[in-house]
Amino acid sequence: MSKEIALLMDIDGTLTPPRQPLLVEMADALKRLNIPFNVAAGSDRPLVEPQFLQPLWDFGYRRKFEAFVDNGATQLSCDFTEEYKVEEVFKFSFADHLGAEDNNLLLDSLEELDGIEEFKLADNLKVIGNRLTDRGSMINYAPIGRTKVITDEALQNRNDFVSFDKSTGYRKKIMEFLVGKLARVMEEKGLNILYGGETSFDINIRGKDKTLPVMKFLEGDYKKVAFMGDALFDGGNDSVVQDLVDNWDPNETCPVEAIPVKSWEHSIEVFGERGWLG
Ligand SMILES: [Mg+2]
Repeated sequence: MSKEIALLMDIDGTLTPPRQPLLVEMADALKRLNIPFNVAAGSDRPLVEPQFLQPLWDFGYRRKFEAFVDNGATQLSCDFTEEYKVEEVFKFSFADHLGAEDNNLLLDSLEELDGIEEFKLADNLKVIGNRLTDRGSMINYAPIGRTKVITDEALQNRNDFVSFDKSTGYRKKIMEFLVGKLARVMEEKGLNILYGGETSFDINIRGKDKTLPVMKFLEGDYKKVAFMGDALFDGGNDSVVQDLVDNWDPNETCPVEAIPVKSWEHSIEVFGERGWLG
């Protein structure tokens, strides 16, 4: 296989239906690809394995590839040639990068939100599950909490929160508070606070996101990286790759191409149009 171009793809909504497992049609298309493919997911390993890795193995895919999870900050080397083998080869540590003092400042700032009247949730809202999810390479903070399995009650709570947030600008106010508290850490250590979906905040380090695998492939053997994602638009969880392309030194030819897709079916059409289906 050529080392000319590495294909890197988002998983959810790009290779699978939203929040659904991989389908056999996509697994068959991936088997036919004539360029190496790799994946970069927003989710963590416990979500990516049942959604993508395990079904890909079950549908008979028998090659090697790299899977970046935790929004790009953790690298799993997948070798399916003889058995289902998934090995963690790299994990960026958010806490180590920040150091104890700044990590505590962040955690204390999140805890402080509880005691402030302005940040009380509306009476119809509850906290269900954990508010803070530490993924090692980033943290997610959800004011209404997060559960592994979404129950009817949690779904209703989530919908109520989305309307509450839209009408009151709740998350925007929290964002302003956190940026105020953490401006120095953002400046010195590249701390990044982003809206995560419709209910939470993703807190990570700049560059330790989906641009990390892109840069790894470029620093490795590849001349070009083609990234496919369904959320390259502004504010979407693939937008960091679009930003990387948009902000590339204008005196150089950008070696990264961001290819927006609408669905997994659309991704298969793109494979065909590009001549990637052998
Ligand atoms: Mg996606």
